[in-house]
Amino acid sequence: MGIVVQKYGGSSLSDAASVKRVARRIVQAKKAGHDVVVVVSAMGDTTDDLIDLAEQVSPRPPAREMDMLLTAGERISMAVVSMAINDLGFSARSFTGSQAGVITDAVHGKAKIIDVTPGRIVSAIDEGHIVIVAGFQGVSGDTKEITTLGRGGSDTTAVALAAALRADVCEIYTDVDGVFSADPRIVPAARKLDRVSYEEMLEMAASGAKILHLRCVEYARRYDIPIHVRSSFSTLEGTWVIDPADTKEEDMEHAIIAGVAHDRSEAKITVVGVPDKVGEAARIFETLAGVEVNIDMVVQNISAAATGLTDISFTLPRADGQTAMGALARLQEEIGYEKLLFDDQVGKVSLIGAGMRSHPGITAKFFSALASAGVNIGMISTSEIRISVIVDENQVEAAVQAAHTAFDLDATEVEAVVYGGTGR
Ligand code: ASP
Ligand code: MG
Repeated sequence: MGIVVQKYGGSSLSDAASVKRVARRIVQAKKAGHDVVVVVSAMGDTTDDLIDLAEQVSPRPPAREMDMLLTAGERISMAVVSMAINDLGFSARSFTGSQAGVITDAVHGKAKIIDVTPGRIVSAIDEGHIVIVAGFQGVSGDTKEITTLGRGGSDTTAVALAAALRADVCEIYTDVDGVFSADPRIVPAARKLDRVSYEEMLEMAASGAKILHLRCVEYARRYDIPIHVRSSFSTLEGTWVIDPADTKEEDMEHAIIAGVAHDRSEAKITVVGVPDKVGEAARIFETLAGVEVNIDMVVQNISAAATGLTDISFTLPRADGQTAMGALARLQEEIGYEKLLFDDQVGKVSLIGAGMRSHPGITAKFFSALASAGVNIGMISTSEIRISVIVDENQVEAAVQAAHTAFDLDATEVEAVVYGGTGR
């Protein structure tokens, strides 16, 4: 039998008892005859606690030191999980991201994996060990500095290792039974999806569904690694994230809409009174790219003929708000816009489904469901298989519930069990 990569999230590793429980589960896979490589996240809320600690110590901690601090969380997990496995009579070896050969670019706090050279892992497997790897971290090939992959990045570590090791499957163990049609904390009638395509999962992750890290899904699609998202608290079959072309037609009976995702992590910036000339938008977004800010939605109004001025609004991660505002403020003289507006009381609600391509009327139905729920739409963006709207932050829940019901996604029996985690 081949290699299985398993990843355990922080909520599955909240204390000593759960570390031992996870160790038993890992050993089961080994006993079943697999070579097992395990990626672990930091225990419980450790990462958040470390961030809080840094904030108390320093108002603007250097990004390099922040990465040194945060990678400690995963190192604790890898060592204790390894100890617990050894107590069960199996030999385990833990490795940091750097030791495991996770090579990244040099961007602290949101590094991208550029290569995986898992020589030490392969040797450890050959020697019969269970391998435990600290997730969410790597080492820059250029600067040799330790980096982190961004919040939730352990998923990406797991899939990257699965690809490099040509594993049969990457199992992502979490505190819910799989991927749901909406966040069960908001929609109790959300249903578990048995299968979801890479492209739908990509859109869901990009739209704020926190179940999988976006780059992990990109990686899995590129290398065709099947992901099995499942609970570490039950033995139920979870959700398979796969390429529909790899399964038999009858297995992939597909709903038009896979689910409704929401995101409260964005903010909106409006550049008011931009001269409507060639090159101004390019200049604004080049500036934002220059300070590593990722833009999501963009809307440019038609300029008023009388003034020749237009407004450009866009959304971005809330955490990058001050960086972006600072960079744009320095452009004011050069571009001659009137002012900047910043709004962080917004939320994004997205409807996702591959069936949208071939079914007309989805947009109309979505918008009328929002209207009936009294939700006002601020911005709209679409892809082939997604419609997203920006709404007032305190209308997010109403919008998600309305869309979920309108598209008949509500399960008749409550399926979602949230086993652990604090939802932090
Ligand atoms: N511990 C990191 C975080 O909380 C990485 C992860 O859990 O995947 O974001
Ligand atoms: Mg996670």
